[in-house]
Amino acid sequence: MFLTNTTATQVRERFGTPCFVYDRSTLESSARNALAFPNAFGFTLRFAMKSNPNHAILKLFLDLGLHIDASSDHEVERALRAGFAPAKIQLTSQAPSKNLAAHIERGVLYNACSLLQLENFGKACPGREVSIRINAGLGSGSTNRTNVGGPGSSFGIWHERLGEARDLAAKHGVKITRLHSHIGSGTDPVVWKRVARMSLGIAGQLPDVKVLNLGGGFKVARMPNEKSTDLQDIGENVRQEFMEFRQRTGRALHLEIEPGTALVANAGCVVASVIDVVDTGKGGYLFAKLDTGMNEVTRPSLYGAQHPIDVLAAEERPSAKVVFVGPCCESGDILTPAPSDPEALAPRDVPRPKTGDLAVVGGAGAYCAAMSTLNYNSYPQAPEVMHENGALRLVRKRQTFEQMLANECSE
Ligand SMILES: *Cc1c(COP(=O)(O)O)cnc(C)c1O
Repeated sequence: MFLTNTTATQVRERFGTPCFVYDRSTLESSARNALAFPNAFGFTLRFAMKSNPNHAILKLFLDLGLHIDASSDHEVERALRAGFAPAKIQLTSQAPSKNLAAHIERGVLYNACSLLQLENFGKACPGREVSIRINAGLGSGSTNRTNVGGPGSSFGIWHERLGEARDLAAKHGVKITRLHSHIGSGTDPVVWKRVARMSLGIAGQLPDVKVLNLGGGFKVARMPNEKSTDLQDIGENVRQEFMEFRQRTGRALHLEIEPGTALVANAGCVVASVIDVVDTGKGGYLFAKLDTGMNEVTRPSLYGAQHPIDVLAAEERPSAKVVFVGPCCESGDILTPAPSDPEALAPRDVPRPKTGDLAVVGGAGAYCAAMSTLNYNSYPQAPEVMHENGALRLVRKRQTFEQMLANECSE
């Protein structure tokens, strides 16, 4: 954990709780680690900005030379505002773009994720170059909720429809020069390597492809018993595959990857307060209620994701088995579900919490601030703070009550 007790106390005094805190040096070192991804014939690192689109993080990655994977027209706009050149942004979206011609005019890259999206592109931008996202037939994620490959997934053009994609491209004089696949979050590295090979096989059938983007999804250990994917290991494997591909075909492909989690997950936490401690008797549980829960850290209630939680007790405390819950009137607002069953409670061994204690939820840099159940129970959106050079800088204020109601229309 990058926050000391003293800094967490300062966060509460200056900004209140709950409050997101991001650590600049952790962000920088994870970006440098990913920038060192092995490659044979050139490499581009995209940040999957849906994991955390805060402008301070975008700016930091811009300065380190990263490019952007945007997942909606709105994210393209947000990346442009943060200062990214259009040519560094690629749009990969479930939704057909509403600004396709304008994006392409500006130089934003487009990744067609369905036959309809490819047809739209052909009509709006005949004669141009495009990327297609394929579903090679296999996926892998930490849960089914985070698996976006294989027959159970709607993401990308199904591999058996490659011929139709080629025909559509030919019909509009569009050249498929980039190929993309992304198969899930928290992907098994063995499956990732296999899909990399399958994707190369598909690139072999598309003679104009010069860039192969293998997506993100690299596993990150948030909990002590979890294991992070070694980027050097899978990268080395892919590097060799790219070299063999060149020997077979004479084509040297440029590699792209686009992690979100691996760049930001462990660079963020939520500083929270214990607001109540209750129990349900002998056969029951001891619960600590925090002022953060599904509104800031939705992943546990959504798919049983595990986040470390530290209770910062000023003095020695006996250990206790504690279920951590959030402040929402919702029985699913649980921070410590069982990993195998999001509906089951999994108590944690921590110093016995008291009301007023500080608690820090770790691993909260990815898909937390970005994926909030915003304003449920009318709790305001939490602020975000950057921890850098030993200081704290507010990068997004707490939402005000007036802002929460701002779009309601009076009669
Ligand atoms: C979400 C997403 C990513 C990033 O996934 P992580 O698990 O955060 O690394 C990359 N590419 C695409 C297309 C995505 O949708």
